[in-house]
Amino acid sequence: MRNLFLIVLFFVVLWILRRALRSRTGGQRSSTVPTPEMMVKCAYCGVNQPISESILTQGRYYCCNAHRLEADSRDD
Ligand SMILES: [Zn+2]
Repeated sequence: MRNLFLIVLFFVVLWILRRALRSRTGGQRSSTVPTPEMMVKCAYCGVNQPISESILTQGRYYCCNAHRLEADSRDD
């Protein structure tokens, strides 16, 4: 029974070590190789902006929530 406990403990330690190692290498990769951000056009005013800063609604990108609402009310 004690051996079983040691085996479980070994795997838990191994799992923690692998997790720590993976998160460390993942952080290095993201800092050394910056992924180029995709630019999208606001469907309302046509302003270009990074995709992470735009709002996606029904397949269209908007630069801000106000333009999304304006476009929504115009569609009706
Ligand atoms: Zn806009």
